[in-house]
Amino acid sequence: MNKASRLFWPVLVTPKNAVVKQTEQLSRSQKLLTELGLVKSGSNGTYQIMPIAQRSVEKLIGLVDGNMQRAGGQKISLPILTPTGLWKKTGRLEGDISEFYMVRDRSGKQFLMSPTHEEAVTAMVATTAPISYRQLPLRLYQIGPKFRDELKSRFGLMRAKEFLMKDMYTFDVSEETARDTYSRVSAAYDRLFKQLEVPFVKVNAATGMMGGSLSHEYHYVSPVGEDTLMQCSACGFAGNAEVLDSATTECPNCRSSQLSQVRGVEVAHTFLLGEKYSKPLGATYLNTSGKPQSLVMGCYGIGITRVLASALEVLSTDQELRWPKLLAPYDVCLIGPKQGSKEQQPAEAVENELLQHLGQICGAQELLHDDRKELTIGKRLLDAKRLGHPLTIVVGARAVQQEAPKLELHVSGGEKLELDISEALKLVAEHSRQKKSLLAGRVREVEESRISQSIGHQL
Ligand SMILES: [Zn+2]
Repeated sequence: MNKASRLFWPVLVTPKNAVVKQTEQLSRSQKLLTELGLVKSGSNGTYQIMPIAQRSVEKLIGLVDGNMQRAGGQKISLPILTPTGLWKKTGRLEGDISEFYMVRDRSGKQFLMSPTHEEAVTAMVATTAPISYRQLPLRLYQIGPKFRDELKSRFGLMRAKEFLMKDMYTFDVSEETARDTYSRVSAAYDRLFKQLEVPFVKVNAATGMMGGSLSHEYHYVSPVGEDTLMQCSACGFAGNAEVLDSATTECPNCRSSQLSQVRGVEVAHTFLLGEKYSKPLGATYLNTSGKPQSLVMGCYGIGITRVLASALEVLSTDQELRWPKLLAPYDVCLIGPKQGSKEQQPAEAVENELLQHLGQICGAQELLHDDRKELTIGKRLLDAKRLGHPLTIVVGARAVQQEAPKLELHVSGGEKLELDISEALKLVAEHSRQKKSLLAGRVREVEESRISQSIGHQL
């Protein structure tokens, strides 16, 4: 079980009359994560993730792993350092390279701290030849740090210089089967984003520096987003303004004039790459007649830390974090009586009994016991609300009254209920059931059972 008293949780304390010098624009999620001690700012544009937020990162990784493996993905790890020679072969060092971190080893050989791994993975596959058509399609993915020397790193984990990415690279025998792979991986993305229950927009995208023929982006809609999206309220169409005629006022899909602009945070991207990387790097397979033929590739990214930060950006209030159900660091926070209070002894008996039951219902790992008994219930409840635990249970004076003892149960979002023990446990069990249902991918049921906060084109 997790004890709040033992938790490393470096809350940012600003003296009451301190003049805070605002050097950068802060987003809501960044402000809350920093103030609450979930994330610390490292050197310029990098971030240190503290234990509470790390739990959420791990949950997201688990969720992504599950969906990638359903889509036939196999997990690997590639080195962060990629020889720049490989990038010369694909021509990607010819453009603007100011965002790349480059290092040299002691012999003078130059490497990129990889912002992406197309070259590295393609070269790896090329040296694994001969690959038979029977081994294809091949869908390899990894989750690891990526580096980009952003001119303007902003909004904390939403646009950091070092960030966590899931990147999948796929290899197929033909354009046709690569398109199959594309729809299979896209379906896994759709499923993942539905499981997260944050309204998202999927748009046609420009292929940009990746090259290739088919591309989609997944966005969370937020005023701090860096992309401009065009949305049609008549048919639900959405597109990145980059690929649409910016002067257009007409929906390219239904011709209505109900196009409006919103800001989007790009959280995932899919590309059909074709032979752009396999040709120059010589990644081939042996076809049915034993002849070498270029592999047809796709690549598929999800910004892990960016999904987390921007989901919080969309869901939270200025005062309180709100988490996607499956990413909340803990499901339940339990707050017991204050030390030295009149009700301490009998209330602790209730508290201990509850700890046992809760551990069985939601799992001890999903339970945070706020055992900082030197603090008042009010102070601990304030922390719990700001941290945004889905459920917070308070064992106070009313829990030990003779007639109809009651617990206080706070649902993230402000609802406060007074319940007896069995009712409270029922609610916790219901929360666990909803999570299981989401994990199993029964997203439809959950979607319909809550108030829809749909923004535009939810696929
Ligand atoms: Zn339309």
